[in-house]
Amino acid sequence: MVNDNIIRARPCPCCYLCGKQGQPVYHGLQDRLFNAPGEWNINKCPDSECGLMWLDPMPLAEDIGKAYQSYYTHRETGCPSVTWPRRIYQWAREGYLAKKYGYNNSSVNNWKKMLGQLFYFHPGRRANLDFSVMYLSSVPNGLLLDVGCGSGQKLMFMEKQGWLAEGVDIDPVSVDQ
Ligand SMILES: [Zn+2]
Repeated sequence: MVNDNIIRARPCPCCYLCGKQGQPVYHGLQDRLFNAPGEWNINKCPDSECGLMWLDPMPLAEDIGKAYQSYYTHRETGCPSVTWPRRIYQWAREGYLAKKYGYNNSSVNNWKKMLGQLFYFHPGRRANLDFSVMYLSSVPNGLLLDVGCGSGQKLMFMEKQGWLAEGVDIDPVSVDQ
């Protein structure tokens, strides 16, 4: 019996830009954000001019949609009510991103930055915050292209952080949104 949830994949040991043998960087990764099935490795091209990183094994093109079944761009998004805990969380988030990455640094006050230090006690939440800005330091009016931008929520967020953001996506559900 075929399990429809399995993402079929093929070995991909070599860089598909320059053809060099990849070096393993991460092994046995699982998707803890969107619960796409499977375990995955990431290779890196040893050529410093290239530096591409890719999945090995590589999902088959016809199965890639399975990785996005619970993707956030396919969910309805309402406006969450603003409660005090949520507001304090937002202040801490602003403070963390200002202090670590320089986002809105001049307009975020010092006590928010101190509040943001609390994330160092919670590595999981801190990792999510680092991911939220794609590990990028602030570049006011910097150009940002998000390949696989989904519904564009990340683009809107990054524009609020000062980037000139654009995106592309092949998923028609996401592009419609
Ligand atoms: Zn390469």
